[in-house]
Amino acid sequence: MVFSCAAHKLRIPCHTIIREPTQFIFSGDTLNDLSIIPVQTDFVTVLSYGILIIAFSYLLYSFISDIRSLLKYRRCSSNVSTSRLIQEIILFTNDILWKEGISHFPIYKISYYPHKKYLGAFDGKRIIVYVKNVTDVHTLTVVVLHEVRHYIQSQVEVKNYSRYERYSKTYGYVLNPLEIQCYLFALKWLDPCIEYLFSRNVIKKCA
Ligand SMILES: [Zn+2]
Repeated sequence: MVFSCAAHKLRIPCHTIIREPTQFIFSGDTLNDLSIIPVQTDFVTVLSYGILIIAFSYLLYSFISDIRSLLKYRRCSSNVSTSRLIQEIILFTNDILWKEGISHFPIYKISYYPHKKYLGAFDGKRIIVYVKNVTDVHTLTVVVLHEVRHYIQSQVEVKNYSRYERYSKTYGYVLNPLEIQCYLFALKWLDPCIEYLFSRNVIKKCA
């Protein structure tokens, strides 16, 4: 099973159903005085609106974050091969993995075939990076960090991770809770990881 990727697309899941209030009263005596007042808003309606607002807020937040990162790191370039760069990004996660009780780094594979949808993937055992789809240091870092979080899920959150397909069917790809977790993980560690790569002289700033 190929689960993951870091291609973010703005979309609202089509399964989100907004129900109309089910009962109304008329405050006027005739239909000419139509002050319609909903007296009952059922729980599903409130829940649907709540989910929609949370989903919209998350998508807006992720969109703004992507733009911010893109502007901030667009002038970074690599001093090393792509393979070495991926390796260094994975090495950066050493302490994170250790705190999760994981003693092995994930293995990775570079795919030189362009993928139609994904920039990277985690197949349950390996991180796969589609290098033809990844054109800059910033994106590569986000992709690898994202897939490392899937690796952690597979190692220490096994039960939840096994629900991946079910979540995808219910929430869609972008709002799959396991994907959101990976996205936020990559966002959280992007700056420290870039700093680490600078400190190791793996990447450099271009004028
Ligand atoms: Zn993913």
